[in-house]
Amino acid sequence: MKMTSYWLDSAPSFTSSAAGPPHGDADVVVVGAGFTGLSAALALARKGARVVVLEAGTILNAASGRNGGMCNNGFAQDFHGLSTRLGLDRAIGLYRAFDAAVSKVESIVTEEGIKCDFKRVGKLKLAAKPQHYEKLARSQELLARHVDPETRMLPRGDLHTEIGSDRYYGGLIFEKSAGMHMGRFGHGLAEAAARRGALIYQNAPVTGLRRLAGQMHDVCTPSGTVRAQQVLLATGTSRIGPFGWIRRRIVPVGAFLIVTEPLPVDLLDRLTPRRRMTTDTRNFVNYFRVTPDSRLLFGGRARFAASNAASDLKSGVILRESMIAVFPELADARVDYCWGGMVDMTRDRLPRAGERDGVYFSMGYSGHGTQMATYMGAIMAEVLDGKPDLNPWREFDWPAIPGYFGWAWFLPLIGAYYRYQDLVR
Ligand SMILES: Cc1cc2nc3c(=O)[nH]c(=O)nc-3n(C[C@H](O)[C@H](O)[C@H](O)COP(=O)(O)OP(=O)(O)OC[C@H]3O[C@@H](n4cnc5c(N)ncnc54)[C@H](O)[C@@H]3O)c2cc1C
Repeated sequence: MKMTSYWLDSAPSFTSSAAGPPHGDADVVVVGAGFTGLSAALALARKGARVVVLEAGTILNAASGRNGGMCNNGFAQDFHGLSTRLGLDRAIGLYRAFDAAVSKVESIVTEEGIKCDFKRVGKLKLAAKPQHYEKLARSQELLARHVDPETRMLPRGDLHTEIGSDRYYGGLIFEKSAGMHMGRFGHGLAEAAARRGALIYQNAPVTGLRRLAGQMHDVCTPSGTVRAQQVLLATGTSRIGPFGWIRRRIVPVGAFLIVTEPLPVDLLDRLTPRRRMTTDTRNFVNYFRVTPDSRLLFGGRARFAASNAASDLKSGVILRESMIAVFPELADARVDYCWGGMVDMTRDRLPRAGERDGVYFSMGYSGHGTQMATYMGAIMAEVLDGKPDLNPWREFDWPAIPGYFGWAWFLPLIGAYYRYQDLVR
């Protein structure tokens, strides 16, 4: 079994890295080469800007290359609950932003000719308990009435048309959701940005940021400094660099995945005949999809723990047990890949994007960001170009999390609370 991301292992390597130490002047320095940073670099380069991307490791080494492979519309959270909290109009606006985000991914794939198996196969959200079905139905009723008629409920009696498992109590289908090969998409994004002139430096951690007179910034790495008119932070759960302000607002939370050996097509036709992006309604969520080469990817929270080699392995054992509980037919399936990643959680699990002290940022997608990160990269290119009103998250304030300075001492408590909720609700 490989303890590495299937998406990165099965994608081409990036060969258009900028050579030598970072130096010189740029219109924009983008910090971080995940989907946010690469999409911003592409959009800015398309506008003719001189763009430098500074990436601490290699491109896609964090969440963008380590995720569940789902490019879903809709919120990860319950729409009914969210519209009660934010107001219906605002919730509808943000839901539309996720729709636009999936369409943005699709248009980049088409325009740049990226071969990443992007397909609108739809998402199936499964009720783990009978009462969860009622909750899904409440959301779907609102969605169908106000914003997404391409959603529908699937009662338990019809579940066999969608999934070969009797563990669930029905589901909610979002037809506009998509899946894609994340490594190939990210690779295509990076190559497209480089083709249009963006300089992408790898192994170039930003360790210093100095604001100079006027609008200029010196963006420093251990091997060189780039002087920029504008700076965009696309750093996800970063632990590197002078970004303490962000580290008081984003909590990195581990999430884990396994991928089986390639499975016979007739078996997959029984387990997941429509090849949907599938998730369930638990806090300790399980989700799964089929990869382009017919493996089952099975992911979930598994444990409230950081991702590292030992932790990923431990979580992989739990995920395999969960996968077999959902699909007993996979008891003998070999697991070929196991890995984990850190999700950039905000307190309310909604992204944040804007400008602070002359530096722009977009992050905090909270586990639902393959589409939104790509979209926000393109949107931030417009914001930097003087169109702040296009940012769907512009009106969200972002106070620090009380008592949090980068060490998430409260995570075990939240984990215990979520486990309790999963038992009783
Ligand atoms: C295990 C897992 C499963 C997920 N599953 C899904 C899913 O199925 N669907 C979905 O929609 N979302 C999913 N997500 C979330 C999604 O992957 C992310 O929201 C999205 O990829 C975020 O992209 P990003 O570019 O903002 O951040 P990242 O991909 O985290 O990139 C940030 C980059 O910044 C770099 N960096 C940080 N600090 C510095 C510095 N000081 N100097 C230079 N570079 C720096 C990092 O090295 C990194 O490459 C998942 C996330 C994880 C971890």
